[in-house]
Amino acid sequence: MLLTPRMPCPACGTTVPNRTIGGHYRCKQCGLELQPAHSQSVIEGVIETFLAVVAAWLLGFRGWKLIPMTFLIFVVLLFALLPVWERFWPTWLEPYGTGMRRRRTDSPGAKK
Ligand SMILES: [Zn+2]
Repeated sequence: MLLTPRMPCPACGTTVPNRTIGGHYRCKQCGLELQPAHSQSVIEGVIETFLAVVAAWLLGFRGWKLIPMTFLIFVVLLFALLPVWERFWPTWLEPYGTGMRRRRTDSPGAKK
């Protein structure tokens, strides 16, 4: 989710409005369907998982108790760090179905 939707469309540069929950981002100018960059989501997820493990460890959770506490802290960090990510590493958009979310039936002509 873009807290402050001001991301440019990668095709035409128009500012893309925020999406409704569950839908795709769509450029009003050129109609291109967009998604937040998948590589960025993966990197953020890895960092948040690492921070969650460290936090749970520092809170004294060990062994099997570390796993549910890590998950709980991860969920909290997912929302708590959203404004931090947007401030220091803003989300960029890529055409829907590209990046690591590429469709299996993708052909070179379908990448637009
Ligand atoms: Zn566009």
